[in-house]
Amino acid sequence: MAYKITEECINCGACEPECPNNAIYEGGTNWEFSGNSYGEGDAAPSGATGFYSSDYFYVVPDKCTECEGFHDEPQCVEVCPVECCVKDPNHEEDKDALLAKKEHLDGIGR
Ligand code: SF4
Ligand code: SF4
Repeated sequence: MAYKITEECINCGACEPECPNNAIYEGGTNWEFSGNSYGEGDAAPSGATGFYSSDYFYVVPDKCTECEGFHDEPQCVEVCPVECCVKDPNHEEDKDALLAKKEHLDGIGR
């Protein structure tokens, strides 16, 4: 399951550099995937939509592995001062799927 950031986010920026998958972006900025740049309104390669935020930091679900393959705990959850990084029930994946996603990202680039 990917994580998402709720509107409780205070835009402190602490999570972005901690994400091993470069899945977190500042609100209103474009996101990258495998060397390409995308913006508001663009769907992720999986077809996921609705994750972009103009106002708060946001997570690109195709790039979030819940930190599987890197850390025991989700790093965004660890550093967030207001506990607004939560599991996204719209993007449910088991551990095997998350590790497969990590390997896929290793191959195509984040
Ligand atoms: Fe990035 Fe890990 Fe947070 Fe997912 S759970 S957004 S991979 S820091
Ligand atoms: Fe927002 Fe939490 Fe990330 Fe800070 S650490 S930018 S409050 S999600």
